[in-house]
Amino acid sequence: DHALYRAKRDRRGRTVIFSSEHEAELSGNGRIEQALRTADLDAEFSVMFQPQHDLMRARTTGFEALARWNSPILGFVGPQHFIAAAERCGLIEQLTAVLLRKALSAAAGWPEHVRLSVNLSALDLMSSRSIDDICRIVGESGFDPERLTFEITETSIMHDIEKAKTSLDILSGLGCRIALDDFGSGYSSFAYIHRLPLNRIKMDRNFVTRLSEEEKVSRDIIRAIAELCANLGVECLAEGVETESELMAVRLAGVRYIQGYYFGRPQTAADALAHLEAENGTGQPEMLRA
Ligand code: C2E
Ligand code: MG
Ligand code: MG
Ligand code: MG
Repeated sequence: DHALYRAKRDRRGRTVIFSSEHEAELSGNGRIEQALRTADLDAEFSVMFQPQHDLMRARTTGFEALARWNSPILGFVGPQHFIAAAERCGLIEQLTAVLLRKALSAAAGWPEHVRLSVNLSALDLMSSRSIDDICRIVGESGFDPERLTFEITETSIMHDIEKAKTSLDILSGLGCRIALDDFGSGYSSFAYIHRLPLNRIKMDRNFVTRLSEEEKVSRDIIRAIAELCANLGVECLAEGVETESELMAVRLAGVRYIQGYYFGRPQTAADALAHLEAENGTGQPEMLRA
Protein backbone atom coordinates (compact mmCIF):
# COMPACT_ATOMS: atom_id res chain seq x y z
CA ASP A 1 0.00 0.00 0.00
CA HIS A 2 1.93 2.96 -1.29
CA ALA A 3 -0.84 5.49 -0.88
CA LEU A 4 0.05 8.23 1.53
CA TYR A 5 -3.38 9.70 1.24
CA ARG A 6 -6.59 7.83 1.60
CA ALA A 7 -10.01 8.99 0.64
CA LYS A 8 -12.85 8.36 3.03
CA ARG A 9 -16.45 9.36 3.20
CA ASP A 10 -17.53 11.11 6.33
CA ARG A 11 -20.94 10.77 7.91
CA ARG A 12 -22.46 13.38 5.61
CA GLY A 13 -21.16 11.57 2.55
CA ARG A 14 -18.40 14.04 1.70
CA THR A 15 -15.07 12.74 0.60
CA VAL A 16 -12.42 13.49 3.18
CA ILE A 17 -8.73 13.24 2.42
CA PHE A 18 -6.33 12.65 5.26
CA SER A 19 -2.68 11.80 5.46
CA SER A 20 -1.86 8.37 6.77
CA GLU A 21 1.59 9.75 7.51
CA HIS A 22 0.08 12.23 9.90
CA GLU A 23 -2.11 9.51 11.32
CA ALA A 24 1.00 7.40 11.88
CA GLU A 25 2.72 10.18 13.78
CA LEU A 26 -0.13 10.18 16.22
CA SER A 27 0.33 6.61 17.32
CA GLY A 28 3.49 4.70 18.20
CA ASN A 29 2.13 1.62 16.52
CA GLY A 30 1.75 3.49 13.25
CA ARG A 31 5.37 4.60 13.41
CA ILE A 32 6.50 1.02 13.95
CA GLU A 33 4.40 -0.25 11.05
CA GLN A 34 5.76 2.43 8.78
CA ALA A 35 9.39 1.71 9.68
CA LEU A 36 8.67 -1.97 9.18
CA ARG A 37 7.26 -1.48 5.68
CA THR A 38 10.48 0.10 4.50
CA ALA A 39 12.78 -2.12 6.55
CA ASP A 40 15.47 -4.33 5.06
CA LEU A 41 14.49 -7.42 7.04
CA ASP A 42 17.74 -9.27 6.42
CA ALA A 43 19.94 -6.37 7.45
CA GLU A 44 17.97 -4.89 10.35
CA PHE A 45 16.82 -8.04 12.13
CA SER A 46 18.97 -10.42 14.09
CA VAL A 47 18.49 -13.36 16.39
CA MET A 48 19.70 -13.85 19.97
CA PHE A 49 19.86 -17.23 21.68
CA GLN A 50 18.79 -18.04 25.24
CA PRO A 51 19.87 -21.34 26.82
CA GLN A 52 17.31 -23.95 27.83
CA HIS A 53 18.69 -26.06 30.65
CA ASP A 54 17.97 -29.69 31.57
CA LEU A 55 18.28 -30.11 35.35
CA MET A 56 18.47 -33.90 35.10
CA ARG A 57 21.44 -33.91 32.76
CA ALA A 58 22.77 -30.70 34.29
CA ARG A 59 23.46 -29.05 30.98
CA THR A 60 22.16 -26.88 28.18
CA THR A 61 20.04 -28.92 25.81
CA GLY A 62 18.84 -26.14 23.57
CA PHE A 63 18.53 -22.46 22.78
CA GLU A 64 15.48 -20.38 22.00
CA ALA A 65 15.92 -17.96 19.10
CA LEU A 66 14.64 -14.49 20.05
CA ALA A 67 14.26 -11.80 17.42
CA ARG A 68 15.87 -8.37 17.69
CA TRP A 69 15.27 -5.32 15.51
CA ASN A 70 17.68 -2.41 15.23
CA SER A 71 15.78 0.03 13.03
CA PRO A 72 17.76 2.88 11.41
CA ILE A 73 14.66 5.03 11.99
CA LEU A 74 13.49 3.98 15.45
CA GLY A 75 16.52 2.34 17.06
CA PHE A 76 15.96 -0.82 19.06
CA VAL A 77 12.35 -2.00 19.10
CA GLY A 78 11.22 -4.91 21.28
CA PRO A 79 9.63 -8.05 19.83
CA GLN A 80 6.47 -7.46 21.85
CA HIS A 81 5.97 -4.40 19.60
CA PHE A 82 7.31 -5.43 16.20
CA ILE A 83 5.80 -8.93 16.03
CA ALA A 84 2.30 -7.52 16.46
CA ALA A 85 3.08 -4.72 13.99
CA ALA A 86 4.37 -7.24 11.42
CA GLU A 87 1.15 -9.19 11.88
CA ARG A 88 -0.93 -6.07 11.30
CA CYS A 89 0.85 -5.00 8.14
CA GLY A 90 1.05 -8.40 6.52
CA LEU A 91 4.80 -8.86 6.93
CA ILE A 92 4.89 -11.59 9.54
CA GLU A 93 5.27 -14.53 7.14
CA GLN A 94 8.25 -12.88 5.50
CA LEU A 95 9.75 -11.99 8.87
CA THR A 96 9.27 -15.51 10.22
CA ALA A 97 11.09 -16.87 7.17
CA VAL A 98 14.02 -14.45 7.59
CA LEU A 99 14.35 -15.21 11.31
CA LEU A 100 14.08 -18.97 10.82
CA ARG A 101 16.86 -18.90 8.19
CA LYS A 102 19.12 -16.86 10.46
CA ALA A 103 18.46 -19.12 13.47
CA LEU A 104 19.05 -22.31 11.48
CA SER A 105 22.28 -21.03 10.02
CA ALA A 106 23.60 -20.12 13.49
CA ALA A 107 22.55 -23.50 14.88
CA ALA A 108 24.26 -25.41 12.07
CA GLY A 109 27.50 -25.49 14.04
CA TRP A 110 26.08 -26.64 17.37
CA PRO A 111 26.81 -30.07 18.87
CA GLU A 112 24.16 -32.66 18.08
CA HIS A 113 22.64 -32.79 21.56
CA VAL A 114 21.73 -29.10 21.37
CA ARG A 115 18.31 -28.22 20.01
CA LEU A 116 16.94 -25.03 18.47
CA SER A 117 13.57 -23.45 19.37
CA VAL A 118 11.90 -20.89 17.14
CA ASN A 119 8.75 -18.88 17.88
CA LEU A 120 5.86 -18.85 15.43
CA SER A 121 3.16 -16.21 15.24
CA ALA A 122 -0.54 -16.97 15.34
CA LEU A 123 -0.77 -15.89 11.70
CA ASP A 124 1.92 -18.40 10.66
CA LEU A 125 -0.32 -21.15 11.98
CA MET A 126 -3.29 -19.75 10.05
CA SER A 127 -1.36 -19.55 6.78
CA SER A 128 -0.77 -22.63 4.62
CA ARG A 129 1.76 -20.61 2.62
CA SER A 130 3.76 -19.78 5.73
CA ILE A 131 3.77 -23.43 6.81
CA ASP A 132 4.92 -24.44 3.30
CA ASP A 133 7.71 -21.85 3.44
CA ILE A 134 8.78 -23.07 6.85
CA CYS A 135 8.93 -26.70 5.66
CA ARG A 136 10.97 -25.68 2.62
CA ILE A 137 13.41 -23.57 4.66
CA VAL A 138 13.94 -26.42 7.14
CA GLY A 139 14.51 -28.86 4.29
CA GLU A 140 16.98 -26.57 2.51
CA SER A 141 18.92 -25.91 5.72
CA GLY A 142 19.96 -29.52 6.18
CA PHE A 143 19.30 -29.12 9.92
CA ASP A 144 17.86 -32.28 11.48
CA PRO A 145 14.13 -31.49 11.91
CA GLU A 146 14.11 -33.56 15.10
CA ARG A 147 16.41 -30.98 16.68
CA LEU A 148 14.01 -28.17 15.82
CA THR A 149 11.15 -27.04 18.08
CA PHE A 150 8.43 -24.56 17.18
CA GLU A 151 7.03 -22.51 20.05
CA ILE A 152 3.42 -21.46 19.78
CA THR A 153 1.26 -19.63 22.29
CA GLU A 154 -2.10 -20.71 23.61
CA THR A 155 -3.78 -17.61 22.23
CA SER A 156 -2.46 -18.35 18.75
CA ILE A 157 -4.18 -21.72 18.84
CA MET A 158 -7.45 -20.48 20.25
CA HIS A 159 -8.18 -18.37 17.14
CA ASP A 160 -8.93 -21.46 15.10
CA ILE A 161 -8.04 -24.73 16.76
CA GLU A 162 -8.73 -26.90 13.71
CA LYS A 163 -6.52 -24.84 11.41
CA ALA A 164 -3.80 -24.66 14.07
CA LYS A 165 -3.95 -28.42 14.48
CA THR A 166 -3.57 -28.94 10.73
CA SER A 167 -0.46 -26.75 10.67
CA LEU A 168 1.05 -28.34 13.77
CA ASP A 169 0.42 -31.82 12.37
CA ILE A 170 2.39 -30.86 9.25
CA LEU A 171 5.35 -29.51 11.25
CA SER A 172 5.22 -32.46 13.59
CA GLY A 173 5.03 -34.80 10.59
CA LEU A 174 8.27 -33.30 9.37
CA GLY A 175 9.84 -34.53 12.61
CA CYS A 176 9.85 -31.17 14.38
CA ARG A 177 8.80 -30.75 17.99
CA ILE A 178 6.11 -28.41 19.28
CA ALA A 179 6.20 -26.41 22.54
CA LEU A 180 3.21 -24.60 24.03
CA ASP A 181 4.59 -21.20 25.10
CA ASP A 182 3.45 -18.83 27.88
CA PHE A 183 1.21 -21.56 29.27
CA GLY A 184 -1.21 -20.22 31.86
CA SER A 185 -0.92 -16.58 30.81
CA GLY A 186 -4.17 -16.47 28.89
CA TYR A 187 -7.44 -18.27 29.05
CA SER A 188 -6.33 -21.87 28.97
CA SER A 189 -8.65 -24.44 27.60
CA PHE A 190 -7.59 -27.86 28.73
CA ALA A 191 -10.00 -29.38 26.24
CA TYR A 192 -7.74 -28.94 23.22
CA ILE A 193 -4.36 -29.73 24.73
CA HIS A 194 -4.42 -33.49 24.31
CA ARG A 195 -5.53 -33.14 20.68
CA LEU A 196 -2.40 -31.27 19.63
CA PRO A 197 0.96 -32.88 18.87
CA LEU A 198 2.72 -31.24 21.83
CA ASN A 199 6.16 -32.23 23.13
CA ARG A 200 6.66 -29.54 25.75
CA ILE A 201 4.77 -27.03 27.84
CA LYS A 202 6.52 -23.81 28.84
CA MET A 203 4.82 -22.36 31.89
CA ASP A 204 4.56 -18.61 31.86
CA ARG A 205 7.18 -16.51 33.62
CA ASN A 206 4.51 -15.07 35.95
CA PHE A 207 4.25 -18.28 37.96
CA VAL A 208 7.94 -18.08 38.85
CA THR A 209 7.85 -14.31 39.40
CA ARG A 210 4.98 -14.65 41.88
CA LEU A 211 6.95 -17.12 44.03
CA SER A 212 8.36 -14.19 45.99
CA GLU A 213 4.94 -12.75 46.82
CA GLU A 214 2.61 -15.71 47.16
CA GLU A 215 5.00 -18.52 47.76
CA LYS A 216 2.64 -21.30 48.84
CA VAL A 217 0.04 -20.72 46.12
CA SER A 218 2.68 -20.34 43.43
CA ARG A 219 4.45 -23.54 44.44
CA ASP A 220 1.13 -25.41 44.33
CA ILE A 221 0.31 -24.07 40.86
CA ILE A 222 3.78 -24.87 39.50
CA ARG A 223 3.53 -28.38 40.92
CA ALA A 224 0.07 -28.81 39.37
CA ILE A 225 1.37 -27.79 35.94
CA ALA A 226 4.35 -30.15 36.30
CA GLU A 227 1.91 -32.95 37.13
CA LEU A 228 -0.30 -32.06 34.17
CA CYS A 229 2.76 -32.30 31.92
CA ALA A 230 3.69 -35.68 33.38
CA ASN A 231 0.15 -36.95 32.83
CA LEU A 232 0.14 -35.69 29.24
CA GLY A 233 3.59 -37.17 28.65
CA VAL A 234 5.11 -33.82 27.66
CA GLU A 235 8.20 -32.04 28.94
CA CYS A 236 7.74 -29.27 31.48
CA LEU A 237 9.80 -26.09 31.28
CA ALA A 238 9.69 -23.10 33.62
CA GLU A 239 10.42 -19.70 32.10
CA GLY A 240 11.89 -16.68 33.86
CA VAL A 241 13.99 -18.38 36.53
CA GLU A 242 16.36 -15.66 37.69
CA THR A 243 17.54 -16.68 41.18
CA GLU A 244 18.85 -19.66 43.07
CA SER A 245 15.78 -19.75 45.32
CA GLU A 246 13.44 -19.73 42.31
CA LEU A 247 15.46 -22.58 40.85
CA MET A 248 15.15 -24.58 44.10
CA ALA A 249 11.39 -24.00 44.21
CA VAL A 250 10.68 -25.12 40.64
CA ARG A 251 13.02 -28.08 40.98
CA LEU A 252 11.17 -29.22 44.10
CA ALA A 253 7.86 -28.76 42.27
CA GLY A 254 9.01 -31.33 39.71
CA VAL A 255 10.06 -29.13 36.79
CA ARG A 256 12.92 -30.56 34.72
CA TYR A 257 13.66 -27.86 32.11
CA ILE A 258 14.57 -24.27 32.93
CA GLN A 259 14.93 -21.11 30.89
CA GLY A 260 15.81 -17.80 32.48
CA TYR A 261 18.50 -15.32 33.38
CA TYR A 262 19.84 -17.66 36.07
CA PHE A 263 21.25 -19.96 33.37
CA GLY A 264 21.73 -17.32 30.71
CA ARG A 265 20.31 -14.26 29.00
CA PRO A 266 19.52 -14.05 25.31
CA GLN A 267 22.96 -13.78 23.70
CA THR A 268 24.66 -13.60 20.32
CA ALA A 269 25.33 -16.79 18.36
CA ALA A 270 29.04 -16.47 19.17
CA ASP A 271 28.33 -16.16 22.90
CA ALA A 272 25.95 -19.12 22.73
CA LEU A 273 28.77 -21.26 21.34
CA ALA A 274 31.14 -19.99 24.04
CA HIS A 275 28.46 -20.85 26.63
CA LEU A 276 28.38 -24.45 25.36
CA GLU A 277 32.14 -24.72 25.34
CA ALA A 278 32.47 -23.34 28.86
CA GLU A 279 29.90 -25.89 30.02
CA ASN A 280 31.78 -28.76 28.43
CA GLY A 281 35.01 -27.67 30.06
CA THR A 282 37.33 -28.74 27.29
CA GLY A 283 34.85 -27.89 24.58
CA GLN A 284 35.18 -31.41 23.19
CA PRO A 285 32.14 -33.39 22.10
CA GLU A 286 30.72 -35.37 24.99
CA MET A 287 31.47 -38.81 23.57
CA LEU A 288 35.19 -38.00 23.60
CA ARG A 289 35.04 -37.09 27.26
CA ALA A 290 33.14 -40.14 28.50
P1 C2E B 1 8.76 -15.76 24.74
O1 C2E B 1 8.81 -16.66 23.55
O2 C2E B 1 7.98 -16.24 25.92
O3 C2E B 1 10.28 -15.49 25.12
C1 C2E B 1 10.75 -15.33 26.42
C2 C2E B 1 10.91 -13.88 26.76
O4 C2E B 1 11.20 -13.76 28.14
C3 C2E B 1 12.08 -13.21 26.03
O5 C2E B 1 11.77 -11.84 25.87
C4 C2E B 1 13.20 -13.35 27.03
O6 C2E B 1 14.24 -12.41 26.87
C5 C2E B 1 12.46 -13.13 28.34
N1 C2E B 1 13.12 -13.77 29.46
C6 C2E B 1 13.75 -14.97 29.45
N2 C2E B 1 14.24 -15.27 30.66
C7 C2E B 1 13.89 -14.25 31.48
C8 C2E B 1 14.11 -13.99 32.88
O7 C2E B 1 14.71 -14.78 33.62
N3 C2E B 1 13.60 -12.84 33.37
C9 C2E B 1 12.94 -11.95 32.59
N4 C2E B 1 12.48 -10.83 33.17
N5 C2E B 1 12.70 -12.15 31.27
C10 C2E B 1 13.18 -13.30 30.73
P2 C2E B 1 11.89 -11.16 24.43
O8 C2E B 1 13.12 -11.62 23.76
O9 C2E B 1 11.68 -9.70 24.66
O10 C2E B 1 10.67 -11.76 23.63
C11 C2E B 1 9.36 -11.44 24.01
C12 C2E B 1 8.37 -12.25 23.19
O11 C2E B 1 8.41 -11.84 21.82
C13 C2E B 1 8.66 -13.74 23.16
O12 C2E B 1 8.20 -14.33 24.33
C14 C2E B 1 7.90 -14.15 21.91
O13 C2E B 1 6.53 -14.31 22.20
C15 C2E B 1 8.07 -12.95 21.01
N6 C2E B 1 9.14 -13.24 20.04
C16 C2E B 1 10.48 -13.08 20.20
N7 C2E B 1 11.13 -13.48 19.08
C17 C2E B 1 10.18 -13.91 18.21
C18 C2E B 1 10.22 -14.45 16.87
O14 C2E B 1 11.28 -14.65 16.27
N8 C2E B 1 9.01 -14.75 16.28
C19 C2E B 1 7.83 -14.57 16.94
N9 C2E B 1 6.69 -14.89 16.30
N10 C2E B 1 7.76 -14.08 18.19
C20 C2E B 1 8.92 -13.75 18.83
MG1 MG C 1 9.03 -18.54 23.10
MG1 MG D 1 7.25 -17.77 26.83
MG1 MG E 1 6.34 -14.33 26.42
